[in-house]
Amino acid sequence: MTEENQRAQWNYESIEEILEEIEGKDHEKIGLQGPDGIKPQIIDYAQQLEERGYETVIIGASTFGACGIADEKAERMGADALIHVGHTRFLHPEKADMDDLNVYYLPYREDRDIMSILENHYEEIDEDEKIGLVGVTQYMDRAEEAREFLEEKGYEVVEGKTGLRTTEVGQVLGCDAGAAHNISHKVDAFVFLGSGHFHPSQVSETGKKVYVVDPYEEHIWVEPPNSLDDEKRAEYARVMKYKDKKKWGIVTSSKKGQNYMQAVKIAKEKLEKHGKDVYVFVEDRIFESDYKGFGIDIYVNCACPRMTKDWQDLAFVSTQALDVLDEVEINHE
Ligand code: SF4
Repeated sequence: MTEENQRAQWNYESIEEILEEIEGKDHEKIGLQGPDGIKPQIIDYAQQLEERGYETVIIGASTFGACGIADEKAERMGADALIHVGHTRFLHPEKADMDDLNVYYLPYREDRDIMSILENHYEEIDEDEKIGLVGVTQYMDRAEEAREFLEEKGYEVVEGKTGLRTTEVGQVLGCDAGAAHNISHKVDAFVFLGSGHFHPSQVSETGKKVYVVDPYEEHIWVEPPNSLDDEKRAEYARVMKYKDKKKWGIVTSSKKGQNYMQAVKIAKEKLEKHGKDVYVFVEDRIFESDYKGFGIDIYVNCACPRMTKDWQDLAFVSTQALDVLDEVEINHE
């Protein structure tokens, strides 16, 4: 079995599969956790578990990814297992342990008919191009069908890979377009199953154009190559604005999959090398308002990378943007 197939086995496709899996195991109390939008399903799953004799506890806060598994909270409530609804299992890029409690992952699959969008609009994809097929969790259960369809129509679809943090071939997260980067040298363009600009723009960092098969817009549109360049430039400009400030903050999260201690260490060493006083902060969910009042104007994000552009008053920058400090130094030598 390939590593890709092995990873996919960590996820379940239905609550019935999980109920079957846990039968006979000595779980007594089970935690449930999921994102906004599927809360009614969580209540339904809790009912099904209670009917089978399990006690349940539901995590109140919604979660944006399996980076935020609440196994510690569930355990504190006496649970011996957790069902994480909505996302696939998340692999920690620094290889920290994500699995202290029994966690069953039940990714959410969106029932919008993405295949009919592909079937009705595929001719907008240039047929001379070698294609990489990627997408978000909600549609990855149809990735194989999409691949077969494109191949039938004469497209060359390059074999896919998982990313650093993901478990499904071709799957892209806001913090991991590795599935695209890993094959980008073999493809001319990507076909992306999903909607919105956020994920396609991560894929466009490969330097390739991205055909987005969008079941909300009901057509295929194109995300141009390197569409994040403006955002990156804005971030570098923020570092330049505060480059002479003495006090800098580094923020990480106590969420398991957003707690990047190696990144904190590297960023801290880099800033200290540039003569900065560095303060390290941690919190579960990270809100800009919590970081006002410390007398620090610029913070480095060592938590969820998708938060970096959200702050309005304080500067919040990625670790990569700190490279600008080295460049400034080199130019002054
Ligand atoms: S983008 Fe952020 S919220 Fe989404 S999986 Fe990655 S770390 Fe978690």
